[in-house]
Amino acid sequence: MARYHDPVCRLCRREGMKLFLKGERCQTDKCAIERRNFPPGQHGKERRPRMLGYGLQLREKQKLRRIYGILEDQFRRYFEKAAVSKGITGQLLLQFLERRLDNVVYRMGLATSRAQGRQFVRHGHFQVNGRKVNIPSYLVKPGELVEVRVGSREMPALLANRESTGHQAVPGWIELDRANLRAKILSNPQRQEIALPIQEQLIVELYSK
Ligand code: SF4
Repeated sequence: MARYHDPVCRLCRREGMKLFLKGERCQTDKCAIERRNFPPGQHGKERRPRMLGYGLQLREKQKLRRIYGILEDQFRRYFEKAAVSKGITGQLLLQFLERRLDNVVYRMGLATSRAQGRQFVRHGHFQVNGRKVNIPSYLVKPGELVEVRVGSREMPALLANRESTGHQAVPGWIELDRANLRAKILSNPQRQEIALPIQEQLIVELYSK
């Protein structure tokens, strides 16, 4: 499967904001946004150009795509699926991304980043409704139970994450049982529960051209 392999902090610097792609490092002063908040590359220190129209729409799309670590083709497929579904396209797009199993693992506080959540899922540490699921793009549904598989419950990285993210708020659509490393999906996420600084309407406008 195709993946992005270049340094991810460059992506945050390109967008001029923290996208929280590197787990704990993002909370420290080693974060590249804290140290070098200007675009990467030779002309990075020149003033950021003011974005309008297409440029603004493109940056918004790239930002969202990068937050969830999705490549262009797959991102477009999410958009197309949202566009033909009943409801507000931009919100449905966010909802599809948010329902990905790797994101749910991250929201549960068992991974420090979505990338780590994806790795845990790929390595077969999670199950949904009692069945192993190792597909990070699996979309959870209301009523499903996501949990760490029995053989992985003592995994040090998972337990350390559970401790370090104990203060982290869990969105209302997920009912977390932190002690037992599991969560019930209560509903589909609503827009106000997806706390991301994204103007999804701009992405809809971009793809609707
Ligand atoms: Fe982005 Fe995290 Fe790197 Fe900071 S440390 S630039 S938030 S990925």
